[in-house]
Amino acid sequence: DTRLAPSFDGIAVAAPPRRAVSGLIEIRGVSKSYGSHEVLHGIDLTVQPGQVVALLGPSGSGKSTLLRAINHLESIDRGSITIDGQFIGYELRGDRLFELHEAEILRRRTQVGMVFQNFNLFPHLTAIENVTAAPIALKRATKAEALAQARTLLERVGLGDKADHYPRQLSGGQQQRVAIARALALKPNVLLFDEPTSALDPELVGEVLDVIRELAKEGTTLVIVTHEIGFAREVADRVVFLDEGRVIEEGAPAAVLSNPKNARTKEFLRKVL
Ligand code: ADP
Ligand code: MG
Repeated sequence: DTRLAPSFDGIAVAAPPRRAVSGLIEIRGVSKSYGSHEVLHGIDLTVQPGQVVALLGPSGSGKSTLLRAINHLESIDRGSITIDGQFIGYELRGDRLFELHEAEILRRRTQVGMVFQNFNLFPHLTAIENVTAAPIALKRATKAEALAQARTLLERVGLGDKADHYPRQLSGGQQQRVAIARALALKPNVLLFDEPTSALDPELVGEVLDVIRELAKEGTTLVIVTHEIGFAREVADRVVFLDEGRVIEEGAPAAVLSNPKNARTKEFLRKVL
């Protein structure tokens, strides 16, 4: 189903997708407004397969909006975003992008896993039911296959013994690890993390970072919004600073975090370190 949403005018495309695609995630000239407030101003960002990118920046700088635009939880007004050469929420017709219908967006969105600050687990489902829900609903696996895969995933995040627990019976760190297992269940090409440890008590942060660190080591492509600068330095291949909807600085963590060039980056790091 690639019908277009009705009465959609199309958005200006910064770069058509058929131009050489070099990265797994290609963000080109992306702008986004809420009403008259433009919160992303022409963002360009390429993420290579297997790369771990830490997205840093002050509150309100547009980090969540950008992350949500990558899997089309937010629409964009200008520019283009592709994952492995494909749009999640749009189809190119002529030189404009038109929004796809929900069913097709949902199908394409399975390429991208997302982990939120507040876990967002289904409260009425057990841990293992949270992990199997999408593969079963989307008929990616039989129930038996989905359950077997979910057990493996829960073991991978250290929760093999919590499969039948409901979210309310789990700590925040455990809930977030279930959320990571759930995000992996559809075998996405990319995982997006939006401040995955911000809602956790300090003693629970480490267990979640350990799981993310393992994913990074295994070569999973990750984009992580975080204020854990030490973690970004250790795990990220690249850090990207966002300020007021613009990429103001990016590069290798050692260089950027130890020796920031931009005054706003310096100020941000002084506050969080
Ligand atoms: P960050 O994640 O870096 O804190 P956000 O992407 O959440 O920043 O927000 C960027 C800007 O967009 C902020 O000024 C915020 O108030 C505004 N914003 C975010 N979501 C909405 C929304 N749904 N409606 C209106 N304004 C929003
Ligand atoms: Mg945010």
